Amino acid sequence: KSEFRGTFSFFEAEMDARAQSRRKIEIDLRDAIQNEGLRPYYQPLVDLASGRITGFEALVRWPHPERGMISPGEFIPVAEETGLINPLGALMLHRACMDAAQWPDDVRVAVNLSPLQFRTGNLLALVTDALRQSGLPARRLELEITETLLLEKSSQVLATLHALRALGVRMSMDDFGTGYSSLSYLRSFPFDKIKIDQSFVRDLGANPDAQAIVRSIVSLGIGLGVTITAEGVETEAELSRLRAEGCHEGQGFLFSRARPNPEVISLLKAQRVATALVA
Ligand code: C2E
Ligand code: MG
Ligand code: MG
Ligand code: MG
Repeated sequence: KSEFRGTFSFFEAEMDARAQSRRKIEIDLRDAIQNEGLRPYYQPLVDLASGRITGFEALVRWPHPERGMISPGEFIPVAEETGLINPLGALMLHRACMDAAQWPDDVRVAVNLSPLQFRTGNLLALVTDALRQSGLPARRLELEITETLLLEKSSQVLATLHALRALGVRMSMDDFGTGYSSLSYLRSFPFDKIKIDQSFVRDLGANPDAQAIVRSIVSLGIGLGVTITAEGVETEAELSRLRAEGCHEGQGFLFSRARPNPEVISLLKAQRVATALVA
């Protein structure tokens, strides 16, 4: 009996520790948001036919003073539970537009939006302000949303999506294929881009079904007139399979990890030199 009680309090202690660690993340995150402790890193999106960089996805990075880099997988959920995702999202949007405004005119920036940002009622104003303050043309901004947003199918969400698109901003569906009714969402809103989730890309070599799925998504994209981007491209073999399937765009460690803004500028300069040498 005492052994049982011992086990029980072990679990209690475990849960307590977890709650405390979340609480600590919340406090530190609040501080990081206020004191410029968070910043965007940028990962290139590559046109698979030409090899050129078409844009960069902004990914939030948190260099924690005690813990080193904390991954978004750890703190985005806490930010969503606590409402901190709203100031975090606003900060990322603003910083990304400011940075991208300094890049060449044919290079876009993609920013992730949390479903919760659609509930605040001021998302449209936030995007409009970020564009105006940075001077970034709307056509150079892409907003990435996941299917969970459309689960609600609320008329308010759809109205906001249409209003954003009317600004000239491009809309991307992120992590395509991981939700349970991806297809029906494509009917409720005209996306400009579909990003194939990296789990399908990872499976390309080993699993013939994954190849059939990628092939179908690409032909769906062609039918809808939508750009298809493959996420998580890590190997040459994955790249050549994606090319063979006619996938338009790729993103992944094979090309580059996410990097801070000064490195984006040197990457683009190096690309310009490389294409000038080839031409
Ligand atoms: P996501 O939007 O699907 O972003 C792609 C994730 O895949 C990034 O992880 C990126 O670093 C990772 N990745 C890219 N290429 C490869 C590859 O070749 N192999 C592997 N294994 N991974 C690759 P990251 O930066 O850890 O972000 C994770 C997720 O956190 C993002 O997934 C996004 O949902 C969320 N997130 C990141 N930044 C923000 C943000 O500013 N706002 C919001 N709301 N969510 C964000
Ligand atoms: Mg994304
Ligand atoms: Mg994704
Ligand atoms: Mg993801």
